[in-house]
Amino acid sequence: MQLDGQYEKSMYINGLWCNAESGNQEHVVNPASLNKIKAFSYGDGADAKKAVEAAKKAFTDWANLSARERSKYLYSAYTLMMEKQEELARILTTEQGKPLAEARGEIASAASYLQWYAEEGNRVYGEIIPSSNKGKRLFVVPQPIGVVAAITPWNFPSSMITRKLGPALAAGCTVVLKPAEQTPLSAIEIVKIFEEVRLPKGVLNLVTGDPTSIGQEFMSNPDVRLITFTGSTEVGKLLMRGSADTVKKLSLELGGHAPILVFDDSDLEQAVKMTIMSKFRNCGQTCICANRIYVQHSIQEEFTAKLMEQLESMKIGEGLDEQVNIGPLIDENALLKVKHQYEDAISKGASTALGGKVYKEKLNGYFFEPTVLTNVSNQMKVMNEETFGPLLPIQTFETEEEVIELANHDRYGLAAYLFTENLNRAIRVMEKLEYGIVGINDVFPAVAEAPFGGIKQSGQGKEGGREGIMEYLEMKYVSMGLK
Ligand code: ADP
Repeated sequence: MQLDGQYEKSMYINGLWCNAESGNQEHVVNPASLNKIKAFSYGDGADAKKAVEAAKKAFTDWANLSARERSKYLYSAYTLMMEKQEELARILTTEQGKPLAEARGEIASAASYLQWYAEEGNRVYGEIIPSSNKGKRLFVVPQPIGVVAAITPWNFPSSMITRKLGPALAAGCTVVLKPAEQTPLSAIEIVKIFEEVRLPKGVLNLVTGDPTSIGQEFMSNPDVRLITFTGSTEVGKLLMRGSADTVKKLSLELGGHAPILVFDDSDLEQAVKMTIMSKFRNCGQTCICANRIYVQHSIQEEFTAKLMEQLESMKIGEGLDEQVNIGPLIDENALLKVKHQYEDAISKGASTALGGKVYKEKLNGYFFEPTVLTNVSNQMKVMNEETFGPLLPIQTFETEEEVIELANHDRYGLAAYLFTENLNRAIRVMEKLEYGIVGINDVFPAVAEAPFGGIKQSGQGKEGGREGIMEYLEMKYVSMGLK
């Protein structure tokens, strides 16, 4: 694929590539170089309306296929995606910035959702309820919810799409996809894959462009039965409010502020290695990234020393360079937010153990040095607000009770991690953490076969696993009188 110039047509409605009715266009910018890489169609609510109409028209036939028939399309798409892994990874890195090895991993993960739901779609069971009345038979019949609007973020431009498409299509729903305006290229490539496997027209539609206008159409259109969204808590709340008039179902994966709890009985090497992987993967721009590290007081010095040793060898740069471990932030706002949180922490008494500066060396993009803060306290923004950047604050604690309270004192409830070799402690602490996901000696919980999702202001609903497909199904209750 040529990564310059413009698409002839970059939206996909009712099985045809097209452009925004308005004729508007925007450019995708490479965040590592600030070069414009490709123009795409910048659609709005009018385009979204057409896409919803197409999805509605396609729904009955798609829902009437057997699960086995639908799964064939998903399985073919999975296979094709893996065949194109390298090409897709390069496109992803170019528009999003993450190191190529991570992008390859994301494509494999993205494809795995298509594979897993190709299989799981065949196992959507109903229920027979033993009736209290001998003259009746009671059933529960799962049915696809209808037209789904999927709004996806830029931090995982590929896997956040398939994590929604896999279960939606497997369940028998039709979809209108709106990817993030920073990363439409990966979305376009995914739609091309479904076109190549001959998905029936209207089953998957793509509208790129103005989030406010497209979002407004999704919220107000009564034919959209479910909005599935991954993004900020702020926009998630807006979608909830805006969907009230049409009483839509919402599936929301929102912000997080993950704590890592490192106890003095942990395997320190493992804890350090995993803390780095969790915090600096995707330059800290992952909703389940470690945001704040709590280390038991007696091991704080050793932990920090080991951490710094490993961090000093990390290479910052353009993700296409195979040596690079840390890419750029997505845009200027993201960079300014990290800088602001860093300055706030310093002004409130934190010390810089490493980094702390915008990184400019030979690079034009939005880079910030991997940064470690010590002497951190609860009053600092970094300990309360999502950072989405390479800033790692270390706070110490004395007791288990104290750290559980610190960890739970948060409006978010997506993921939390703990490191300990003590089995009793692991179970005890896990049960008390108010989070949808807990990693015990593990920071990579997101897999196709398990239910991923937050509580509190981190969202509602699950993606992945048996539970993931339930979001796209209505349970029709049938009461039948016998003669
Ligand atoms: P971030 O701040 O990380 O970019 P957002 O929540 O703004 O996260 O973006 C996630 C997704 O939500 C993107 O696809 C974005 O275009 C979309 N989005 C942003 N604002 C709105 C809105 N008002 N209505 C619908 N979607 C929106």
